[in-house]
Amino acid sequence: KKLVYLFQEGQKDMKELLGGKGANLAEMTRIGLPVPEGFTISTRACGDYYDNDRSVSPQLKEEVMTALRNLEKETGKTLGGTDQPLLVSVRSGSVFSMPGMMDTVLNLGMNDETVEVIAKLTDNPRFAYDSYRRFIQMFSDVVLGVESFFFEQELSKVRREKGYQNDPELTAADWQEVIQGYKTIVRKHTKEDFPQEPVDQLFLAIKAVFDSWNNQRAMIYRNLNDIPHHLGTAVNIQSMVFGNMGDDSGTGVAFTRDPSTGEGKLYGEYLINAQGEDVVAGIRTPQPILSMANDLPDVFQEFVDTANKLEAHYGDMQDIEFTVENRKLFILQTRNGKRTAQAAIRIAVEMVEEGVITKEQALMRVDPEQLDQLLHHRIDHSDDVAKLTKGLPASPGAATGQVVFDPDEAEILNAQGKKVILVRTETTPDDIHGIVAAQAVVTSRGGMTSHAAVVARGMGKACICGCSEMQIDLKNKTFRVGDTVVNHLDTITIDGGTGEVILGEVPMIPPQLSKEFEMILQWADETRTLGVRTNADTPQDAQKARDFGAEGIGLCRTEHMFMDPERIPVVRDMILADTTASRQAALDQLLPMQQDDFTGIFKAMGEHPVTIRLLDPPLHEFLPDKEELLVDITKLEITNPDAPALKEKRKLLKSVRLLDESNPMLGHRGCRLGMVYPEIYAMQAKAIFKAASSLAHEGIEVKPEIMIPLVGHVKELEVMRKVVEEAAEEVYADQRVKVAYTIGTMIEIPRAALTADLIAKEADFFSFGTNDLTQTTFGYSRDDAEGKFLQHYLDQGVLEHNPFAVLDTEGVGQLIETGVRLGRQTKPGLKTGICGEHGGEKRSIAFCHNTGLDYVSCSPYRVPLARLAAAQSAV
Ligand code: ADP
Ligand code: MG
Ligand code: MG
Repeated sequence: KKLVYLFQEGQKDMKELLGGKGANLAEMTRIGLPVPEGFTISTRACGDYYDNDRSVSPQLKEEVMTALRNLEKETGKTLGGTDQPLLVSVRSGSVFSMPGMMDTVLNLGMNDETVEVIAKLTDNPRFAYDSYRRFIQMFSDVVLGVESFFFEQELSKVRREKGYQNDPELTAADWQEVIQGYKTIVRKHTKEDFPQEPVDQLFLAIKAVFDSWNNQRAMIYRNLNDIPHHLGTAVNIQSMVFGNMGDDSGTGVAFTRDPSTGEGKLYGEYLINAQGEDVVAGIRTPQPILSMANDLPDVFQEFVDTANKLEAHYGDMQDIEFTVENRKLFILQTRNGKRTAQAAIRIAVEMVEEGVITKEQALMRVDPEQLDQLLHHRIDHSDDVAKLTKGLPASPGAATGQVVFDPDEAEILNAQGKKVILVRTETTPDDIHGIVAAQAVVTSRGGMTSHAAVVARGMGKACICGCSEMQIDLKNKTFRVGDTVVNHLDTITIDGGTGEVILGEVPMIPPQLSKEFEMILQWADETRTLGVRTNADTPQDAQKARDFGAEGIGLCRTEHMFMDPERIPVVRDMILADTTASRQAALDQLLPMQQDDFTGIFKAMGEHPVTIRLLDPPLHEFLPDKEELLVDITKLEITNPDAPALKEKRKLLKSVRLLDESNPMLGHRGCRLGMVYPEIYAMQAKAIFKAASSLAHEGIEVKPEIMIPLVGHVKELEVMRKVVEEAAEEVYADQRVKVAYTIGTMIEIPRAALTADLIAKEADFFSFGTNDLTQTTFGYSRDDAEGKFLQHYLDQGVLEHNPFAVLDTEGVGQLIETGVRLGRQTKPGLKTGICGEHGGEKRSIAFCHNTGLDYVSCSPYRVPLARLAAAQSAV
């Protein structure tokens, strides 16, 4: 098994082996772009390294040395040589890009001897010493574990002593002094001298890059992005080019289109006389790329041509890292750029219009999960909000929250349900947990291509970078803009689309969907075969879902209608009734109310089907809490034993006790209520039919589908079906009109799925209630699982996903497959759908498509996601 590949030996399809960076460096070499020579150690070697107790095998050592000798021949330079010293970068690069999460070492091969040779060769001692001190700092941080902080402290000290403001003021001699200080730091912290032997440096760096695969931020990033932990990273060894040679040199990052808005123009930044890390680490705020046209016009033109060539070659927006050494352009990296949802959609649609990709490809370019971002609210600018300051609009979206300066604190406050905005001088990849926890991120330094901005955009977090007027005082936990001081935990609002920072809370307005968004969803509708419905209990939700393109209601829960504060007394009368007659009286009062609810929902849905589930929860949910009641009664007994309310409450308590169940989730609920109190289901059915028939008189044709919950035995459905049918006959006779309807059941008990062939005899449709089906299949009650042990299971890898969020296809999915198969055995063409929360989750939607369900149903805001995910399953 070969472990090391020269750039000439690879190409873009070899990502799994060479990592994304390595595969693309090889590809760019292959198509003749100016890429510094080098080779890639494969991810396979990384796997071996971990399998062998983190040791470099003799085979790997040998292959690296062979490739190194080859590189030396190609470049005419030698690692550690005193004629023409070769310097290399040692760069991480995994299969899926993880911007800035792993380590990279630049300028490797520098030592006390080679630095002198380079000083002479380039006739630029200042440059040579600057590179050496960069190398010591970076190598010590990444490989030797000596924190950068100590080196920065040392550098500040020298700057202060000499009275300098900026690094460019340091002379060659000053840098030599810094280097001496740096070496002392290394000796102090590692008890050894800084390693001078370049081959040793090289292998130490390779090991460090392998190790960085498992550093904390990389793990967090992989967990967040569902990247498997076993993949490992490749290591790229590449000869160095220098952006820090002077004013004819520089380094930068550019996207071929705007990754924030998707606009089709070059977007990027660069720094003159700097090394790459300076830009991506967000330490200095760089120049916008377009001003390179003035600084270095020839190089700029060449870069624009190369960027266009790369985008055309990959057929997607590229994120390109480049360096200019004495007016010569080198490309150091290209990858498909991370982008916001807004940008993803606009780029996909425009690339179809440009004839670069097909509609199907465009559909695959947008992550359904990302669509959420577009449904967020924006700042309402109508009442002229006063902005505090402005930075670079790095990632769109508006957010309000309390100011925190520490990522750990952001995490803690977020866990307490607080909304925070993380304010930092610059963010490093180590802050990732804080970025995740914050509503938005603001930095005072750094550009729009900094790792922080890239990561924020990938997550759809609002982000503003380079707010240069902002003076952050970490000691006092405040920041100042001019005379305004903003304290820790003060509330601010930011708009990542404009870069504005505003004091306090600002009114928000609903999002406006772009024409590109409508276009993508239209293509999705043309492509998908799976229907998309919504879960909605109110006319407002139903209307919202219609606006988002729902094709009906897959689940209308009726219990919320019972919860209305005005109705609850009547509902309680019904529950507490001693006789059927008094229960009927309460039900008679409820009927017109329910009828109104259904009329509203039917109207919103028009000719689209509406699945209404009859009452499902156990009745005690409509009664007061037992403990509260006891406290009330005790209080009254002491203060006012003659109060009439006391008698009432005692009676209530008696009923509450009677209805008390040891396991309500598996207790008297669902159709079990309808079986014992058929008059409740009859009332609901009548309300539905009355609503439908009076709308029919108005000329509105509606499609009611009545759903009986929690059926486990066909007999239950048989009995309930009769109740509903009789209600229909009664209402229709009275109204002299007939509206067609169907009766079906929720499949949410394993027994129902297993006997679906029998149940199908009584059912016109099945709707898989995967929330309860997951509970009953695993035997978990959701609240207990999520509150007590599920996280443990996920951390231990017992479960890969929370089964309430991502459908467990192995177990619960089996029951769905069985249910569909058996049901259609009895009734070919039996309509089937799913109405759990899984109906709005892309992997679960793909499963539904593959299992042949007719539709998924999800909450209104997830309808666009479901349309797109359904289309992706069909491509
Ligand atoms: P990351 O994955 O964190 O972006 P990279 O391996 O891309 O790490 O390295 C970071 C930066 O270092 C690059 O953007 C590039 O500017 C610079 N760099 C890497 N290799 C070289 C090289 N051979 N010559 C010059 N600069 C380099
Ligand atoms: Mg990079
Ligand atoms: Mg249920």
